[in-house]
Amino acid sequence: MLFNIVDNLADSEFLTPALVDRDPLVVAIGTEGAAPVLARKVKAHLEEKLPAALGAVVRAGEAFRPAAEALPKGRARRSFWSAVFADAFVPGSAPEAGTLDRLLAEHLGEAPRKGRVLFVGAGPGDPDDLTMRARRALDEADVVIHDRLVPLPILELARREAEIVEAGKTGFGESIPQDEINAMIVDRASRGEVVVRLKSGDPGMFGRLDEEIDACEAAGIAWTIVPGLTSASMAAARLGQSLTKRGRNSEVRFLTGQDVTGLADHDWAALARPGSVAAIYMGKRAARFIQGRLLMHGADPATPVSVVENAGRPEERVLATRLAVLEPTLSAAGVTGPAIIFLGLAPRGMAVGDVLTEAVS
Ligand code: SAH
Repeated sequence: MLFNIVDNLADSEFLTPALVDRDPLVVAIGTEGAAPVLARKVKAHLEEKLPAALGAVVRAGEAFRPAAEALPKGRARRSFWSAVFADAFVPGSAPEAGTLDRLLAEHLGEAPRKGRVLFVGAGPGDPDDLTMRARRALDEADVVIHDRLVPLPILELARREAEIVEAGKTGFGESIPQDEINAMIVDRASRGEVVVRLKSGDPGMFGRLDEEIDACEAAGIAWTIVPGLTSASMAAARLGQSLTKRGRNSEVRFLTGQDVTGLADHDWAALARPGSVAAIYMGKRAARFIQGRLLMHGADPATPVSVVENAGRPEERVLATRLAVLEPTLSAAGVTGPAIIFLGLAPRGMAVGDVLTEAVS
């Protein structure tokens, strides 16, 4: 007979792991007696995360195993099971009758695989700022078509088999015309692939999203938008400021410095009003123009202006200045990374009048 002495590790002949039971799926958690309280916490965590119906999902899969033998071993079969269990962690998502048959037919090539496009926001650049939904999309992708601003650590999260294609657009000019990007998205989805169109920040913010959606619609391809954290949100957070504030600004504008015609025109009179707050995207080259227009429309030359370069990335820099000297301050600082120019916001705790340019991090 073997003995386990609950409070005596040395004299115990066996240990009992904590169990999370979703019969037939069982997860055993043990720390070899090193941290039983931690094991209980891990158990509680898993109990919460693993839906009660997970066992039923596993049983449904088990019953289908003989049918799945029809698929060649290797990639095809793995991809089938991966599709079967895609939503296994979503509460109440046992596969419906018929779903497995349909997936099998698709994987056998008897039914055309239905391609689709996910327009996914990558956030400002740190993988920690991706949403869970964005991570799942990257897990599912057959191909990831990304903008130049999406950095490598995020692309590395894509499924190992996924093809990564750069659709090299920058803030100024573009090396691949938009039409070609649209055509590529449609072409890959038409072949039945899951296309992740990965854009920096939020895909709906200055991302030419509508043109790509129109192309999908015209080709009858299913699409979804997965929103992301836009760089202005991150930039405001880095300044320690909120985007709106009672008594200061009850609205905030998102502007682009550049548009298809070149320097973008705006409602300068409204922007020049005291207290107005605007996040300016793609504003580096347009800074002198914006500064001139605002001053011409009566903006206070002492209006605070902050520049957040590489917001949320390791190379982040914050500059605090005033409208009157936005240029040449910006050029002198040599801002080379993507940057948000915030009109009407100073970094919290920074006296803009005293210090014209200062990196706070
Ligand atoms: N869809 C993106 C914006 C694309 S336009 C978003 O929601 O953020 C490209 C512009 O975004 C850049 O010129 C810059 O102004 C801004 N931008 C993107 N990433 C940034 C970052 N990490 N820090 C500061 N600005 C950034």
